This record gives sequence, C-alpha cells and structure tokens, in this order.
Amino acid sequence: MSAHHDVLGMAREQLSVAAKYLDLDAGLHQVLSKPMRQLIVNFPVVLDNGEVMCFEGYRVQHNSSRGPTKGGIRYHPDVDVNETTALAMWMTWKCAVVNIPYGGAKGSVKVDTKQFSRREIEKLTRRYVTEINMILGERSDIPAPDIGTNAQTMAWIMDTFSMQKGYTVPGVVTGKPVDLGGSLGRVEATGRGVIVATEEAAKTMNMNLGGAKVIVQGFGNVGATAAKIAEEHGATVVGISDAVGGIYNPKGLPIAELTNRYAGREGGIQEYKEAEKVTNKELLELDCDVLIPAAIAAQIDESNANKIKAKLLVEGANGPCTFEADKILHDRGIHVVPDILANAGGVVVSYFEWVQDLQNFFWEEDRVNDQLTKIMQRAYGQVDATMRQHKTDMRTAALIIGVKRVADATVRRGIFP
Ligand code: NAD
Repeated sequence: MSAHHDVLGMAREQLSVAAKYLDLDAGLHQVLSKPMRQLIVNFPVVLDNGEVMCFEGYRVQHNSSRGPTKGGIRYHPDVDVNETTALAMWMTWKCAVVNIPYGGAKGSVKVDTKQFSRREIEKLTRRYVTEINMILGERSDIPAPDIGTNAQTMAWIMDTFSMQKGYTVPGVVTGKPVDLGGSLGRVEATGRGVIVATEEAAKTMNMNLGGAKVIVQGFGNVGATAAKIAEEHGATVVGISDAVGGIYNPKGLPIAELTNRYAGREGGIQEYKEAEKVTNKELLELDCDVLIPAAIAAQIDESNANKIKAKLLVEGANGPCTFEADKILHDRGIHVVPDILANAGGVVVSYFEWVQDLQNFFWEEDRVNDQLTKIMQRAYGQVDATMRQHKTDMRTAALIIGVKRVADATVRRGIFP
C-alpha cells in the first residue's frame, strides 16, 4: 500500500478530474488539494519488559469549511503522513457526498499491533492522544476506529481526553462502546451501508443481490459485516480473506460460523476446511458477480484490473482501486461504487452517535438503521443522477458532488481575514 503506492498522488489526481468538471477556480483547487493542518508526533512508550520504544503518529485535518473534522485512527506498520493526508482528504469528500456537517481528518500510528500486548497498546493510545489532544475536541476534530483500532481503543481515547479536561467528553470520539455513549448500530454501520449501496447499484443493473455470488477481501469490521448482511439478503458469499490469505468455495461459505468460530482465533479463517485456500491476489480474480474489497488501499491496479470477473465492484475499503485501475474497469464496463459513497455508512452513524452524545439522548437501533439506509439511498441516487448527467464513472460523479459542496461552503464563508 502506502510504501509502494502514492495514495496522496491518487487522491490529488481524483480531485483534479472533479475540478475540471466543475471548472473550479485555480486558487480554490489549490486550497482543496492541501491539508489545513498536519501534526506529526514522536512519543515513547514503556513496554511490558521495561524497555522504552519510540513511535511515530500523525493527525491530519484536511478541511473544516462544512464543520468539525472527522476521521478514523489507523494502527498499521505501513502508514505515513502522505497516506494519512490522502485518507483525510477522502473523508472531506465522503462527509460532503452524504451531506453530513463535517470536514475530513485522519490519524495514524506506525505500529504492528500484533507485536504488542493489550496493556502496551493502551499506553500507546493514551500517549498518542495526549500528543494530539490540542487539536481534538467534540467541536473541532472527532476520531473514530479504522484498521487496527476498535471500540476499546475509542474508550481509551475518550477516557484520556476526559481526564485531561477534568470532565467526561463522550462526543470527542465515535465508535465507542454502547455503554459509554456509543450508538447502537455503529459497529455494523459501514458494512450495512456497503450493502445498501450494493443493492442500489444492483437495481440499476438489473441484477439481484439475492442469488448473486459475492467475494469479500478483508474479514474485519467492514468485510465481515458486509458478508453477513449480503448473506442475509440471499447472496452466496463464495470467497473471503484476511491479511494471511483467502478461502473459496463456489457453493458458499458459512459467514456466521466463520465469524464466530474462526476469525480472530489462532489460525483464523484458514483453519476452515471446506474451502480451497487462495492468495489475496487470486481471490480478487475469482468468478463472482459482486466484489467487495474491504481491506487496504491499492489492491486493484493496472496489473490485475483486466482480470476482475465481477460485474459490480463496491469499495468497502478506502482507495482499493488505483487511478489506473479505475480507467481499465470503466472501459470494461465494470460498475465501481466508489469508497467515498460505498463506505460512508460508518461516518453517517458516527454522526448519529455524536448527535446523541451532544444531546444525551439515545436512539433505538431501528431508528439508526432506518436513517442510515435513507441517507445512503439518497446519496446513491444523487451520485447516480450526476453520473448519468455527466456521462462519467461513479467515482468522478461522487467527487463532483463532494468537491462542489466543499468548494461552495468555502466560497460562501469567504477567506479569513
Ligand atoms: P479491520 O482492521 O477491522 O479489518 C481489516 C481486514 O483486512 C482484516 O481482516 C485484515 O486481516 C485484512 N487485511 C489487512 N491487511 C491485508 C492485506 N494486505 N491483504 C488482505 N487483507 C488484509 O479494519 P476495518 O475497519 O474493517 O477497515 C477495512 C477498510 O475499510 C479500511 O480500508 C478502512 O479504511 C475502511 N473503512 C472502515 C470504516 C469503519 O467504520 N471501520 C469506515 C469506512 C472505511
């Protein structure tokens, strides 16, 4: 990913394409192509054996013209400031595409969490938050989970920030455990939204999700939930994978069993015997109707875009298709539902969580899921209409909408001073 691919370059190229369609003013284009704030921190953690180890982390805020900045925190050995900036930029467009009042941000720490104990990860989290807390806040910048972080990490972030404020600030972070001010439905929100987008796309393609063959790359929060809900809608999930590799069975895989009895355990999904083992690369090229990459960036590029067999590709991950892959997939008539639309369900329910925290009034799960579905369907419809109007691909259409909303807000507010 980042070490091999220029993800920020990819994000900037995408912005340039949208800027051309919008005939965006050159100065405004320049403003939007840069992050408003990048914080790089190096901090020590005392490990369980008493040794001190130094870690590098980032928090990047891309644009706040539509509201406080919002974006996940990623713990992964390959992160760097440029990749984090690209992810922050995508968050800006994503929040604008689904029309929620946030700008974009992203944070990350260069760490392989598997090498450290839970206690060490807790200490790393608390120190990282302390190093970046001057730019966090429920009215300024609100983190959430991403790769390598989860509800427990968010609880530690909330607690650390609150200890330093002197009172509990649940709204400073979303994706918290439900009993600490989290929202019902948040854990499943991204995967659920991915499937709403898949269904909307299927409708326009005369495809039926019920009976369709689905392959999901990445069996974490997003991938496992998307696989589960796809199965609930009658789809056959024929292939899944995690960082180690994939498993494939054309007759279908039992998602609930794989989630409950294999994922996250010693040996993981590879231990499941009624399937063929495949590599992550092979998985993407297997026969299916719907392909959902839900792992990391730049998985489909010019080397394999020609080999994808799916008719519909729904981006659960951020940036799974490179700029070159996009062109090939578009020319081959494969419909790609872009990340900033397809995986926006997570930030939508994060927004609901934040609203609930600010009001100290909590919703029932049905209300969360209904409102999520409505927002996803509305956004899908708007992007679909823009795609048809401009006769372009869906990513460009989503960027046209997202970039226009942010540009309009910037112009309306005016440039200070
Ligand atoms: P996660 O850590 O829960 O799961 C990631 C999965 O990907 C794991 O199964 C892991 O084994 C697998 N993986 C890691 N490296 C891989 C590799 N090189 N090849 C194949 N698989 C690999 O993370 P998540 O929260 O599910 O996030 C997955 C993607 O979705 C990321 O791109 C993230 O930015 C994006 N996303 C997440 C959310 C959210 O709410 N969690 C929202 C929007 C977008």
